[in-house]
Amino acid sequence: MQIFKFGGASVKDAEGVKNIANILQKVGYSNTLIVISAMGKTTNALEVVVHNYFKEKEKIKESIDFVKEFHHKILQELFPDEKHSIFSKIDNLFNELIFFLERNKSPKHSFVYDQVVSFGELISTTIVSQYLNDCGVKNTWLDVRNLIKTDSNYRDAGINWEETQKNIVSNVNKSLLNITQGFLGSDSNFFTTTLGREGSDYTAAIFAYCLDAESVTIWKDVPGVLNADPRYFEKTELLHKIPYKEAIELAFYGASVIHPKTLQPLQKKEIPLFVKSFINPQAQGTAVCNVAELEPKVPCFILKKEQVVISLSSLDFSFIVEDNISYIFKLLSDAKMKVSMIQNSAISFSVCVDNKFDTLSDLIEKLKEKFKVSVFENVDLYTIRHADEASVQKIQENKEVLLKQVLQNTVQMVVL
Ligand code: ADP
Ligand code: ASP
Ligand code: MG
Repeated sequence: MQIFKFGGASVKDAEGVKNIANILQKVGYSNTLIVISAMGKTTNALEVVVHNYFKEKEKIKESIDFVKEFHHKILQELFPDEKHSIFSKIDNLFNELIFFLERNKSPKHSFVYDQVVSFGELISTTIVSQYLNDCGVKNTWLDVRNLIKTDSNYRDAGINWEETQKNIVSNVNKSLLNITQGFLGSDSNFFTTTLGREGSDYTAAIFAYCLDAESVTIWKDVPGVLNADPRYFEKTELLHKIPYKEAIELAFYGASVIHPKTLQPLQKKEIPLFVKSFINPQAQGTAVCNVAELEPKVPCFILKKEQVVISLSSLDFSFIVEDNISYIFKLLSDAKMKVSMIQNSAISFSVCVDNKFDTLSDLIEKLKEKFKVSVFENVDLYTIRHADEASVQKIQENKEVLLKQVLQNTVQMVVL
């Protein structure tokens, strides 16, 4: 069995959906399970709906209409017959969303978030599945929430592997073409959960693991994994082969082409991960697999934008040691801060974090009770793997370096 994952960029418009049909016809689709994300920037647009629900109620309708119109345009291009049953199927999903927002009593932001943003994937898979069936690419639509079971940590749910494995093995028919949603799961009360932004790659890995798949292919708008994000770096090089360990490091440091949680389950069963171009599906792309060395072995650059550096020093010149550090980490963990770099000296401690859950101001207030605090917002974190002098120079040039750390051949720099 092979697992394919098509992300938001591959289904951002009607052409993208048509292209999936082409790819499947070219590369073959027997014994395949396809995981699909929300179309284009739909998840961001649904985040606006959630924001409006909590903060600007009068704008809810406008924000839902925006998502509706975006999908309607795609539907009209894919299904010229305006009486096609797909139109009412999609209308029903929007009605379900509106019904939820009208009836919901929970004040919990993360809970509401998951119930709302999940419609992106439910809508995209319904459209793609229908289109493929109409083209003769017969497939079965699966509701992933009946398969992937999680805890109730909304927006960043953890997998219940035992139940998930059982559900997947007993419900996925390996001999068919299966289509399902990325990013979603459900908790023990059958409320929808999500696995963290960009989590559809992880969904593909979960299915691969549970089904002992032969491979996972994620189809991207780039030729494969490059040695840097082409949006921010010129003259990038394609990495042909990447050992699992190296790919885990790259993803962990923020190479956003692969979701960081994706690789562990694959590595455990040595299932290869192919990253290929949906524009040029027959090109070789990248294989993350059981090889000894990165090929070619070149410096790899990772840029994380919009990071925050929090620098702490003790109010009374006392040392920042174990007890202080464990207190700081408790606060960071309570605030769900993702820590990307740490540096400490006798009386100071600096941490570079991602303010993903918008908890920075509360955290700072709490830290100020015990420490002198300085905050640098909107800084860039560069990580260079297999760094050499030229690559470090290239990043440092004309920038003010706030923090720098060298760990074997990995160099990290926070710059202003
Ligand atoms: P998806 O459509 O699956 O959500 P993403 O947008 O998450 O795709 O991932 C593809 C994007 O990842 C590329 O367009 C590219 O800008 C970015 N990217 C970041 N780092 C890398 C890298 N090292 N190699 C290739 N692409 C990268
Ligand atoms: N649609 C979700 C997101 O945009 C999940 C994914 O695309 O992987 O974060
Ligand atoms: Mg994505």
